Amino acid sequence: LGCAPVMKTTRSAQLFAAAQQLIPGGVNSPVRAFRSVGGQPRFIKRAKGAKLYDVDGNTYLDYVLSWGPMILGHAAPAVIRTIKKAADNGTSYGAPTELEVTLARMIRDAFPSMEKVRLVSSGTEAVMSAIRVARGFTKRDSILKFEGCYHGHSDYLLAKAGSGLATLGIPDSPGVPADFAKHTLTAPYNDIDTVRRMVTKHRKDLACIILEPIAGNMGVVPPAPEFLSTLRRLTAENGILLVFDEVISGFRVNYGGAQALYGITPDLTILGKIIGGGLPVGAYGGREEIMNLIAPSGPVYQAGTLSGNPLAVSAGIETLKQLKKKGIYKNLEAQSAALAKGIGDAAKKAGIPLIQTRVGSMLTAFFTSSPVSDWNTVKQADTARYGKYFHKMLDQGIYLAPSQFEASFLSTAHTTQDIDKTIRAAHTAFKNL
Ligand code: PMP
Repeated sequence: LGCAPVMKTTRSAQLFAAAQQLIPGGVNSPVRAFRSVGGQPRFIKRAKGAKLYDVDGNTYLDYVLSWGPMILGHAAPAVIRTIKKAADNGTSYGAPTELEVTLARMIRDAFPSMEKVRLVSSGTEAVMSAIRVARGFTKRDSILKFEGCYHGHSDYLLAKAGSGLATLGIPDSPGVPADFAKHTLTAPYNDIDTVRRMVTKHRKDLACIILEPIAGNMGVVPPAPEFLSTLRRLTAENGILLVFDEVISGFRVNYGGAQALYGITPDLTILGKIIGGGLPVGAYGGREEIMNLIAPSGPVYQAGTLSGNPLAVSAGIETLKQLKKKGIYKNLEAQSAALAKGIGDAAKKAGIPLIQTRVGSMLTAFFTSSPVSDWNTVKQADTARYGKYFHKMLDQGIYLAPSQFEASFLSTAHTTQDIDKTIRAAHTAFKNL
């Protein structure tokens, strides 16, 4: 797939060669390696606002934003100031801090369903822990997840998991004993009839239904009308917990996440990305009677040396403070709508079939002509064509997700000029596909 880059990439190429000798695939997280789009991954030297700067001196407008966290743009001055100040006070204590109380309160104010919150260090860890407490609370073993939804890389959640697995065509991972995965049921996203059938069949054994209330890991797939409300009703009727994984959508689609946007109250919620302001954080929380089961107030064990880390929590608090300012989400919506419209117009003009999905500032352009609603429809997209589009955009300094099956994100640092530049680049890219 890889086409010869028009930019100088000598230093990136050298570093990638060295990295491949030392690190599996040369990367510390698979999708960074450009496997599905081909070509040379760029090694980033620094980032500021909406821009990435690589080791060869190239500049890119960034629509990956560290896969979601950098909603204020890179190195947002207020966040960096806060991190520096926090660092002067020491970087980890292994004892409680006032910062954790502040962040937990801010999270609960934004997500009233999270009556109690536990901070951890990654989304993966938060999901794993939320499922443990869901199982502890219900005294049931099985979980139901949806094809194309990614919930981190813990053993039993890799079944039909979207994201890097979809990109690399890995259905499930070797290394996961069948015994560990046997409690994971999967259903197509947005397919309420299948869910209903599975709930009827497994109701006595289902601890929870977990989903991304706005799917982001097969590219953006919004929930169909009634999907979330029907899940809410079905789970409540059967003593099953409803778990929203809002690692991407939380503080992204609006301050209160997808649950505020659609008016659905889950039992448990998982957050990550934005609440750490670009430092490693995850959080899970929910109904008090469930969360009280977690050690030390209850018997469900979960712990972490760096949980509630003062640097990460400080960055999170400052990020949320900035996001609370008036007009932030309205502006993100306007910029994102303009970008989506411009790209749609460009595709139409070039006669390229394109299906666009978007909720606020998370969006995907699928190279397909039929509507997308789940993994089966999404995977019809022409990934080879996406790869070409990706490289034609990259060559013009636009950094999109290096896979068809990922979301693009905007930040408050993206300007109208940035959007215009991106749309112009899309015109050129589509014309040459
Ligand atoms: N859940 C969702 C919805 C995610 O998008 C991700 C990561 N992209 C995770 C969980 C896992 O988070 P982390 O990479 O921080 O472990």
